[in-house]
Amino acid sequence: MSNDHDHHDGNDDHELRVSKIRDGTVIDHVRGGQALNVLAILGIDGSEGEELSIGMNVPSDRLARKDIVKVEGRELSQDEVDVLSLIAPDATINIVRDYDVVEKHRVERPEVVEGVLSCPNPGCITTGGEPVTSRFSVLEDGVRCSYCETIVRDEIASLIDT
Ligand SMILES: [Zn+2]
Repeated sequence: MSNDHDHHDGNDDHELRVSKIRDGTVIDHVRGGQALNVLAILGIDGSEGEELSIGMNVPSDRLARKDIVKVEGRELSQDEVDVLSLIAPDATINIVRDYDVVEKHRVERPEVVEGVLSCPNPGCITTGGEPVTSRFSVLEDGVRCSYCETIVRDEIASLIDT
């Protein structure tokens, strides 16, 4: 039994490959292979019983391959969406209530992210056990530590402080 045809909320690609959620967030158009990093950023690992659906490397019109993450019972905050933009700049955030998409956002890159990434420089004041919150400027193609000026362009997701 399926009632998928009752919903017309802009299923552009192959969204139906992953089941519908009732209330929560659908993060669509994540770059292929980044879904698990998206979950890491959100601090979701399933250990608290969160209901998740993940589609990875799904064919997409807009991207060659995309990932989709659906999180039941959780609406993302703007801060979370901002940070997501670092690894999923093309993502679309759909807030779902009672099976309907009530809000749809494209992510926007923030100018600064605080307390989310760890500086890879072991000599940085933010990594030395001092009570200093990490702070990175968001560049066109990476992030720069506001304290030691270290620039990271690749593997930003590996700096996520979870
Ligand atoms: Zn640093």
